[in-house]
Amino acid sequence: MKSVSVTLKNISKVFKGFEGQDIRAVDDVSFSVKPGEFVTLLGPSGCGKTTTLRMIAGFETPTKGKIMIGEGDVTFTPPWKRDIAMVFQSYGLFPHMSVGNNVAYGLKMRKMDREKIKKQVSEILELVGLKGFEHRPPSSLSGGQQQRVALARALVVEPSVLLFDEPLSNLDVLLREQMRVEIRRIQKQVGITALYVTHDRTEAMTLSDRIIVMNSGKIMQIGTPNEVYEKPESKFVASFMGKIAFFPVEIKAIMEDRVKVAIKGKELVLNKEIEISENLKYVLGCRPEGLYLEAPGKGHIEGKVLTNVYLGNYVESYVKTEFGEVMVKTEAGVSDGFEEGAAVSVAIKEERAKLIPDTQANS
Ligand code: ATP
Repeated sequence: MKSVSVTLKNISKVFKGFEGQDIRAVDDVSFSVKPGEFVTLLGPSGCGKTTTLRMIAGFETPTKGKIMIGEGDVTFTPPWKRDIAMVFQSYGLFPHMSVGNNVAYGLKMRKMDREKIKKQVSEILELVGLKGFEHRPPSSLSGGQQQRVALARALVVEPSVLLFDEPLSNLDVLLREQMRVEIRRIQKQVGITALYVTHDRTEAMTLSDRIIVMNSGKIMQIGTPNEVYEKPESKFVASFMGKIAFFPVEIKAIMEDRVKVAIKGKELVLNKEIEISENLKYVLGCRPEGLYLEAPGKGHIEGKVLTNVYLGNYVESYVKTEFGEVMVKTEAGVSDGFEEGAAVSVAIKEERAKLIPDTQANS
């Protein structure tokens, strides 16, 4: 299968509201997806991710900007001439047709030879794990199986780009986890360029080569799952990617690959993972696994244990501090001495703490 790049240059989309007001759904978005890459648009409801995907598909026309698929400018090209296929949340299967005919539909429209269609349909059904399901009606299949048929139908026409609009939202948790792995396996095996929309960060982390985090129509950060989780460039991205506590911090000294900081006079030396400017304000971001509990006075921030939640291997302790409630995740057995109600000190693992620009304070 051929794979191509997808490039958006300064794309904006403005809708008109009921009272004629402008709704800026997508605001000056630029990015490029490499051939064969799996990229996810991730963000809260209303951030503009679906509108971005629909513009790539050709269902919406940008108000401004340019969309390229491979070397071709497709900004104003209708969907059926774009060499893309899309998988939707509501599978979109034809209920009166068998699984085989659903998958064959696109090939029949292209007037492909009958024998060839049969062979191709059977190959693609095998790829999605539905070998021998040709004659079943879609209604006799589970949600996960129906979504596999939808995926087969999208893949069989050998598009250059595969678009997914929250395809797993209708499935239960277990099936969703299974389908994530399946989608990733099939995409890698076929080598097709894929763009995926979701508001589920675990889904984005599992599936993607890179994640584009969006908020209010804008791109907040583009990076690998590890980069957006471990090196967030804003408090928004840091919190959207998972639980994190923020502490006010003072920059004491910037060295070549280290930064000396202080939280209320208590010093820490951190790895310099991002460029630090003396003119900007930062917060210290700590994920639950980057914190541990110590006896009062021995850590960095004093507090009191509100609740301990035992999760088998781990204990999540919720600690009240002067900077708000902080979640500390420790291996079971490690912090057993700190019962609910106990005075504790939250200690920061220096190698896990990150400096994050305080965008609000800097603007
Ligand atoms: P969700 O996860 O809820 O689908 P989203 O991030 O995909 O959200 P979009 O559906 O792209 O967000 O919507 C972005 C903004 O544009 C929202 O404020 C939405 O109400 C608005 N919008 C989307 N489509 C239209 C439309 N056809 N007409 C008017 N406003 C629209």
